[in-house]
Amino acid sequence: MDRSAAIQKAADYLHSGRFLADLDRHVGFRTESVFGKLENLAPYLADDLVPALDQMGFSSEICRAKADGRNLFLIAERHEDAALPTVLMYGHGDVVAGMDDRWSDGLTPWRVTQRGDRLYGRGTADNKGQHAINLGAFAEVLKARNGRIGFNMKLLLEMGEEIGSPELTGICRSLRDRLKADVMISSDGPRMAAERPTLFLGARGIFKFRLTADLRPGDHHSGNWGGLLVNPATLLANAIASLVDGNGRILVQALRPPALSEAVRQALSHIAMVSGPDEPAIDVDWGEPGLTPAERVYGWNALEVLAFAAGDAQRPVNAIPGKAEAVCQLRFVVGTDLDGAADALRRHLAAKGFPQVAVTVEWVEAATRLDLDNRWVRWAVASMERTTGKRVALLPNFGGTVPNECFAVDLGLPTLWVPHSYPGCNQHAPDEHMLVSVAEEGLRIMAGLFWDLGESEKPCF
Ligand SMILES: [Zn+2]
Repeated sequence: MDRSAAIQKAADYLHSGRFLADLDRHVGFRTESVFGKLENLAPYLADDLVPALDQMGFSSEICRAKADGRNLFLIAERHEDAALPTVLMYGHGDVVAGMDDRWSDGLTPWRVTQRGDRLYGRGTADNKGQHAINLGAFAEVLKARNGRIGFNMKLLLEMGEEIGSPELTGICRSLRDRLKADVMISSDGPRMAAERPTLFLGARGIFKFRLTADLRPGDHHSGNWGGLLVNPATLLANAIASLVDGNGRILVQALRPPALSEAVRQALSHIAMVSGPDEPAIDVDWGEPGLTPAERVYGWNALEVLAFAAGDAQRPVNAIPGKAEAVCQLRFVVGTDLDGAADALRRHLAAKGFPQVAVTVEWVEAATRLDLDNRWVRWAVASMERTTGKRVALLPNFGGTVPNECFAVDLGLPTLWVPHSYPGCNQHAPDEHMLVSVAEEGLRIMAGLFWDLGESEKPCF
């Protein structure tokens, strides 16, 4: 069988109705990790995935997170030959809460319902549908190659991504040898747009911090004390204005990234940001001047005020509040030096006249980005473009978050993310769905990648 016939087999897996049956079975497991019941999470691995993996020749083990036990991991391996390359694939089988009573009429989170091009059900987009595509394509290429696919495959599936992936990093560190691979290829998150095959190479990092101006206990009458007491809300608003200006431009050097590299600029010149029908219009003049919208979300940092509180805005009283606080978040790209950023923030605030504003760091996640000229990137783009005949949207990193640090940093792998969802998928909301058209193209793309990986002529090695 040749490449195009194997790719057609993967598409036929969908056309025959078998993909829908598999997805329906996956979705039927109520794997809401937020409720913390391992007995609801384990059957998806033990009763659904492990038997399917057995048939493909994987050996599987289910491990429980050791420290607090809130997560389960499936580690599966299919070894063909030590001389062949090894792929590590990640996915997550847990989902957010079903929100059962908020779905549109006739839809339920726990069955797949097809309406036109949409396959509704909790986890269809995030992430069961995505790893179902990858495993389905793997099975078809394996059959097309008569049981010898031409590379080794390791699978790491967790059941706690929606609660922050407890102990995923610990598993990667403690099982470094067992998870050793040449490349990580995984699928999560949305494509740039439904019709645009997308490859992203990492994720922006997160630096979340709280600013607190706690000046005195209790509130004081604004008539008697107005003019005598520093107002913490006024102070904090001005402190924030010294960090980011009225157009969203970051003013603190330590929170700014280095200039965009030519390679990043070049890749992003092919990316046009467009809002979907249910999405807000993009504010083209917001953020760092001189950058395109794509450069601002994929190539630059954004400092956002997530919450701001002083007094009670619903029931204001005539008083100067004693305390004001704000929660801010920096989404940052590779090259931003976050070591010492908290101290730099404190120094900045003191120098601008706001020494009373305290800085508390609440969450830090590293930024990751595989080099755009890495040979794996060239290989994957060529394979995807050959399969689809479309130009791939190559993004240096995801604007949001996927658990990529453990693979890129702890396991030291080149990381390729090939998403099979799209921006309007209602992930994390009622009416979550996957598009049949994207699932079909995703199956083709993955079959093409797996076929090319197993070719004797390997451009990568
Ligand atoms: Zn999610």
